[in-house]
Amino acid sequence: MIKINEHFNKLQASYLFSDIAKRVSRYQEDNPDKTIIKLGIGDVTKPLPPACIEAFHKAVDEMAGEEGFRGYGPEQGYDFLRKAIATADFKARGADISSAEIFVSDGAKCDTGNFQELFSPDSVIAIPDPVYPVYLDTNVMAGRTGSFSDGRYEGVVYLESTRENNFVPSLPHQPVDLIYLCFPNNPTGSTISKEELKTWVDYARQNKALILFDAAYEAFINDDSLPKTIYEIEGAEEVAVEFRSFSKSGGFTGTRCAYTVVPKACVAYIADGTPQSLHGLWNRRHCTKFNGVSYPVQRAAEALYSPEGKQQAQALVNYYMKNARLIRTAMSDLGFTCVGGDNSPYIWIEGNMDSWKFFDLLLDKAGVVCTPGAGFGKCGEGYIRLSAFNSFENVSLAMDRIKNSLA
Ligand SMILES: *Cc1c(COP(=O)(O)O)cnc(C)c1O
Repeated sequence: MIKINEHFNKLQASYLFSDIAKRVSRYQEDNPDKTIIKLGIGDVTKPLPPACIEAFHKAVDEMAGEEGFRGYGPEQGYDFLRKAIATADFKARGADISSAEIFVSDGAKCDTGNFQELFSPDSVIAIPDPVYPVYLDTNVMAGRTGSFSDGRYEGVVYLESTRENNFVPSLPHQPVDLIYLCFPNNPTGSTISKEELKTWVDYARQNKALILFDAAYEAFINDDSLPKTIYEIEGAEEVAVEFRSFSKSGGFTGTRCAYTVVPKACVAYIADGTPQSLHGLWNRRHCTKFNGVSYPVQRAAEALYSPEGKQQAQALVNYYMKNARLIRTAMSDLGFTCVGGDNSPYIWIEGNMDSWKFFDLLLDKAGVVCTPGAGFGKCGEGYIRLSAFNSFENVSLAMDRIKNSLA
């Protein structure tokens, strides 16, 4: 008899996006002449930068010739891309990360989901609430949690992000082994200061814990005093793995390219306390289960580091950030308490009502779709997330409609 992995049955069915879709289509049926503006999505809307398209085309043409054709590439990524990453994203920030410590992949979703495979099933995990669901669900699948009740999995240490702590969780009160952090944050849009991040790095060093740091929204940081990488913090290379993605920074959500940094100094421990390098372990895992990102896609990603590519990617980020500022200002002017939107494309808005009520209010009165905060965890109740990923025209219209209907 073939038996299933019963940990999968602990997963909570996510009705979030299907519930949203249902409410939206009901509204559209009742109001056939109204246009709906979607500010719920966490996906970019603008096309790829021209520099990427050019590099992409050129690489495809190379693949058409006997000389330029490439078969399997290095699983860790081509040197041209790994070097560009190490230089521009780390060395330029004073972080001593080498190209050999970069693993190119087809997405930060897969990497953040897969990385937990390296750790013992009895590791205690600390997960933010609210959260990008991948961290939690992949640990549930791996059997690191008990069952689900009252909005929480047994055995998980939840790091609550609330208005009280300015949406930056405090250190856990009980010992933990594996810590997930995401800054700038999805869904709250909050950021972490160097001092705050240092307390986490120091905690990990003192407790032989490991931090998995998701920096998918690093490109949206305006405030130069904020850390763009965890390796700006002293000692982080011993206790932190960082995930990055070209999805939001370069419009690559459909093109697929990301990378993970596993410093050679980073360790986890054998049961007897002997340290073991994570770099070697992840390399083994990556080469066993992954066969590299396609050559044209890596050339397109490399183009983001050319002078034109940098400028074009920055223009994309600036475009979304103008939307973000507009949303933040409009919602604050209406008296809502907001976080995010200054160094991130998401604005987290407190409604003084339950998340779904707030969702219905914006849909019914203004024809605007948001994401109810409760869908991201227990601490998201009472909040909604608005996304800056849409056209400036749509965002402006949405804010006008919200102002006219709620003011
Ligand atoms: C969008 C996003 C990513 C990027 O995922 P990809 O698989 O690289 O597209 C990673 N983490 C968070 C929190 C995100 O919102």
